[in-house]
Amino acid sequence: MIFENTIAFARKLDRNDPLKKFRSQFLLPKVKGKTALYFTGNSLGLQPKNTKKFIQQELDDWAKLGVEGHFHAKRPWLYYHKFAKKTLSQIVGAKPGEVVAMNQLTVNLHLLMVSFYRPTNKRYKLIVEAGAFPSDQYAFESQIKFHNLKPEEALVELKPREGESTLRTEDILDTIHQHGDTVALVLLGAVQYYTGQFFDIKKITETAHAVGAYAGFDCAHAVGNVELDLHKNNVDFAVWCSYKYLNSGAGSIAGAFVHEKHANNNTLPRFAGWWGHDEGERFQMKNGFIPMPGVDGWQLSNFPVLLGAAHLASLEIFQAAGIKNLRKKSIQLTGYLDYLLQQIDQEEKYFTVFTPKNPKERGCQLSIFVKKDGKKVFTKLTKAGVIADWREPGVIRIAPTPLYNTFEDVFRFSEIFKAAIR
Ligand SMILES: *Cc1c(COP(=O)(O)O)cnc(C)c1O
Repeated sequence: MIFENTIAFARKLDRNDPLKKFRSQFLLPKVKGKTALYFTGNSLGLQPKNTKKFIQQELDDWAKLGVEGHFHAKRPWLYYHKFAKKTLSQIVGAKPGEVVAMNQLTVNLHLLMVSFYRPTNKRYKLIVEAGAFPSDQYAFESQIKFHNLKPEEALVELKPREGESTLRTEDILDTIHQHGDTVALVLLGAVQYYTGQFFDIKKITETAHAVGAYAGFDCAHAVGNVELDLHKNNVDFAVWCSYKYLNSGAGSIAGAFVHEKHANNNTLPRFAGWWGHDEGERFQMKNGFIPMPGVDGWQLSNFPVLLGAAHLASLEIFQAAGIKNLRKKSIQLTGYLDYLLQQIDQEEKYFTVFTPKNPKERGCQLSIFVKKDGKKVFTKLTKAGVIADWREPGVIRIAPTPLYNTFEDVFRFSEIFKAAIR
């Protein structure tokens, strides 16, 4: 599409947007009485108007039914983890039996590393991206130490080439090949939280498998943002949170994927809990763990229904919008932002966008490095009603999301940003 740098053009795109009705299903924060330009769906997605109703339903059922709510609530609590499966599986490109909502993201990362990072004398390396999200880094280090290994020896960090900001797929694949049969697990963020780079899941997984390793992905910044095709791409496992693009509320319930080829592999070691035990005899309270087939067998505790209610309210919107349609709009919306930013500073004198240019290699987020006085620029944006994300040393991350951001939002942001860098 050929873009134009005018508000009339932005408004025309909004008028023709088949997903435009979804914005009105969200509560948009205000700054000084005016609707904010909200670009931090990559950090905390906005609240759907329906969330209150979904949570209220559980509160009412709890009030009326007490413990009987497990069976007789509108959405019986005993089966709550099943209600998210259909939509979650569509969002991540999986079969319903391959996904489950459970725990928190870092908890799930640990649980699945227990099963899929099992170093031996010969095969012990963990390949990750350098500068991974801190929680992931702590998980990697502590998992390695848990096996009495040293992070300096077992952890292989993928770094961009000198003078580059993002990783080249060929370099990732080369590194996996170089370490060959010493690699136990390749574990990357599907979309890198800082650079916004969307890795080539298919090729990375294929190459990990070719050297005899497992491939896992942290999809915190990918779920609800890009199409993942986890099943078709033959990924071994994946984890995500639901408070970013999935709009399920701060600290809400996370999710996990385990490929169906591992569904009945009871030899995979795991840390078990009663909610992962065979449903048929869960309440017989016996010794001897028998896992549920598939990812359900990794569940530990009974389901947090209030968090789950918020999750379902949001998933209902995803179900109606469809991840394919969302991605299609997202590519245009972020493409428009990229175009407008280029118009401001063609020579890259004041800033550079270091997220990959190719829409296939990024999600909705653009990461902007402001060369001078970045913090001042950021403060000006905030004063003008923009809610964005700041990271030292000069990085502003902007994530226009297709569910509630408009082309006009993006246009207005570009005008404010242009004024701020001058
Ligand atoms: C947001 C995010 C986290 C946060 O972990 P929680 O367990 O949800 O607190 C971890 N890893 C990545 C890559 C993230 O983007």
